[in-house]
Amino acid sequence: MAAPGTPPPLASGGGSGEPRQLPELIRLKRDGGHLSEADIRNFVHAVMDGRAQDTQIGAMLMAIRLQGMNLEETSVLTRALAESGQQLEWPKAWHQQLVDKHSTGGVGDKVSLVLAPALAACGCKVPMISGRSLGHTGGTLDKLESIPGFSVTLSPEQMLHILEEVGCCIVGQSAKLVPADGILYAARDVTATVDSVPLITASILSKKAVEGLSALVVDVKFGGAAVFPDQEKARELAKMLVRVGVSLGLKVAAALTAMDNPLGRSVGHTLEVEEALLCLDGAGPPDLRDLVIRLGGAILWLSGQAETQDQGAARVAAALDDGSARRRFQLMLSAQGVDPGLAKALCSGSPAQRRQLLPHAREQEELLAPADGIVECVRALSLARVLHELGAGRSRAGQPIRPGVGAELLVDVGQWLSRGTPWLRVHLDSPALSSQQRRTLQGALVLSDRAPFKVPSPFAELVLPPTTAQP
Ligand code: URA
Repeated sequence: MAAPGTPPPLASGGGSGEPRQLPELIRLKRDGGHLSEADIRNFVHAVMDGRAQDTQIGAMLMAIRLQGMNLEETSVLTRALAESGQQLEWPKAWHQQLVDKHSTGGVGDKVSLVLAPALAACGCKVPMISGRSLGHTGGTLDKLESIPGFSVTLSPEQMLHILEEVGCCIVGQSAKLVPADGILYAARDVTATVDSVPLITASILSKKAVEGLSALVVDVKFGGAAVFPDQEKARELAKMLVRVGVSLGLKVAAALTAMDNPLGRSVGHTLEVEEALLCLDGAGPPDLRDLVIRLGGAILWLSGQAETQDQGAARVAAALDDGSARRRFQLMLSAQGVDPGLAKALCSGSPAQRRQLLPHAREQEELLAPADGIVECVRALSLARVLHELGAGRSRAGQPIRPGVGAELLVDVGQWLSRGTPWLRVHLDSPALSSQQRRTLQGALVLSDRAPFKVPSPFAELVLPPTTAQP
């Protein structure tokens, strides 16, 4: 990442006098000072041209994590990251149709896999630049890469072609697209600096700023398995995303959505692809479908393609039910490197046939309910931590992950469960769970003695730019 050697003078970034050297910038932020535009651009240039050592990048990230950044600093960091690569350009006629969604990261969150093709089926253009697994949360790119042949690296020309033909593509940042975010994202993952409002804001919006969008909805998770468990802190992030969006000329809304239980019934890369396909069949778990439809409704409304959020939601629901979203998904898979026969088989097969087509783990182990009761909650964080240990996540930047490792919930939150009934099926490559892992997983199941209940929608509120009225 960083090349050793004598540091040349830092790239100039405006202001008077000599640009500050990296240790000075780090010290300034460490002690709670504000970084100027020139300082921030100098740091990003140093990250890009290799003058910043890994230790300096980590130290600066930690200083930002601990001291924060104000709106102006966050906005400058976002622009500097975006400008580290190429700006994407699309035909003018597409302007209103260009939309996207991004999530701050959850457990079992496969919404993007469903929503991108559903929006394409509604006439949108979705040039989605997505992320990898971060901390305990899963990443859209890693999920898609579990489909044999799927490539997340496309040139801008290839993206243009796919948007013309299919309407959506899902790619990662690359040497050309927001490369500085790629470096910082990987460094944050291994330096305990993921949970930072300015770093998350800059990371997400830098990727979106290069997409040339008409509208963006960010799904900001709160709850036990979210980056910010506290709804108030998540709201702070939502407001920062919306405000920085305004400063960049981007129309951004942020949905606050609950992340205590896993989203849907599957967690883990290939298992989540299978569940996304179920949702694209017009079926699948209701909480997943609900979130896809409501986020999609907000996007269609925010971009002026639907009169209300509810009308937008109805169009997204129709695209799931009539198979048009699934057809777009199939086309997107083929366009992004999956053998067309495999793409077709995945999109038309039964759940059992699909399972045979995707990589799966060597072993399965079921856990039994230790007592009678109502399933009050399944703690997604405990589940994610064990799956991470089993190889579904990374502990070092660039480490390969095990795509088949995951877990299927065999019960729904709110339902009655009797003692001895299987409630979780773990897919693993190791011969068996350790007793500690089994204990942690059993601790994830929270039982109560209240009456059965219907789980509320995860969608809690939508934070809008100041001048936008909620319909
Ligand atoms: N997604 C991103 O792209 N970056 C973050 O920091 C969090 C989620």
